[in-house]
Amino acid sequence: LAVSHLSKTFVTHDRGRRVPLRAVDDVSFVLRSGHTVALVGESGSGKSTIARMLARLVRPTSGEIRLDGVPVPGGYRAVRRYRGTVQMIFQDPFASLNPTHTVGYHLRRPLRLHDVAEDRPAAQEAMYGLLARVNLSPAELMAGKYPHELSGGQRQRVAIARALAPRPRVLLADEPVSMLDVSIRLEILNLIERLKREDDLAVLYVTHDLATARYFATEAMVMYRGQVVESGSSDDVILRPAHPYTQLLASAAPDPTARRATTAPRDLAAAGSGPNGGAGNRSGRPAPDGGCLFRNRCPHAMEVCRQPVPVFAVDATHTARCWLYRDADQARAHAADAPA
Ligand code: SF4
Ligand code: MG
Repeated sequence: LAVSHLSKTFVTHDRGRRVPLRAVDDVSFVLRSGHTVALVGESGSGKSTIARMLARLVRPTSGEIRLDGVPVPGGYRAVRRYRGTVQMIFQDPFASLNPTHTVGYHLRRPLRLHDVAEDRPAAQEAMYGLLARVNLSPAELMAGKYPHELSGGQRQRVAIARALAPRPRVLLADEPVSMLDVSIRLEILNLIERLKREDDLAVLYVTHDLATARYFATEAMVMYRGQVVESGSSDDVILRPAHPYTQLLASAAPDPTARRATTAPRDLAAAGSGPNGGAGNRSGRPAPDGGCLFRNRCPHAMEVCRQPVPVFAVDATHTARCWLYRDADQARAHAADAPA
C-alpha cells in the first residue's frame, strides 16, 4: 500500500470564524507485506487521521493511495473490496464492538459481507477458526457472549478476529493497546505480530510508545503537528534520533526495560503539541508561520528555521525534516556526484 503526498485539512470553527486545520501535511510512505511500519507521535499529531484515510473512513484533501500500484477507485463495490483488503483495529475496544450483538455475530457478518463464507454453516466454521486464531476459547462459549461480558483484552481480540475475517493484506492498528491494562499489552502486540507473520500482512502500527515501536516495527516515522519529521529504520529513529523532537520524545520515554510504557509523558503533554500548537498556542505563544513547526520548543532553533524545512538525508536510509542536516545531506549529494 503506497501513500503519496497525502494531506488532510479539517475546517473548524472558532467564534463563527472558519479555521482550517492542517491535520496531515504531505505524507508519503509504503507498507509492504510482512513488515510493520510504526507511526509515532503525540496525540493530535495526525496519526489516526492517516490510518483513517488509509481505511477510507476519512477522505483525503489531496494525495494518492495506491494498492499494488493501482489507485483506489471511488465506487461502492470497489471501496468494499478495498475495505476487505485493508482492515483497521481501533484504539477503543469498548466502542468498536456493538453492545447489542454477540461475538459470533461480529465475526459472521464480515465473513458473509466479503464473500469469505458462502453460507451459514461455512460462516459458523470460519468464525470458530477466527476465534481460535486469536486464542479465544472455548470458541462455542465465546461466540455466544456479548461485549459487556468480556474484558478489554478479550474485546480487542474479537476486534482483531473481525479485522482478519475478510482475509486482509493490510492491517491498520491505531493504538491497539493504549486503552488496555498494562499487563496484557504485550500479549496483544505479540498476537498481532504472529498474525502478521502467518498471513504475510503489511501492518501500520500507530502508537506513542517508542519502546514497542522499536520492538515490533522495522521502520518508524515520527509525526509532529501533521508532518513526518523523521523516518528510517526503527533502530535508527528510536536509538539514534536525529530530529530534535524525536530526541525529546526519546529522552522523555519511560525505560523500555521497565515493561510498562505507553502513556504520554506529562511534561510533553503540558508543553503542547496539538495540530495548532496545543497548550503552547493556548497560552498565547504565536504558532510558527511557514518555518519549522517545532521552532518554539527546539533547543537548536536558528535563523534559517523560520524558512520552510525540506526533508534532508541524515544517511542513506534515515531522513529528518530539520535544517541541522542540510550539510550532511549536501555532503552526501556531493559524494554521490563525485567521479569514482
Ligand atoms: Fe530545531 Fe531548526 Fe531543526 Fe526545527 S529545523 S527542529 S527549529 S533545528
Ligand atoms: Mg489517535
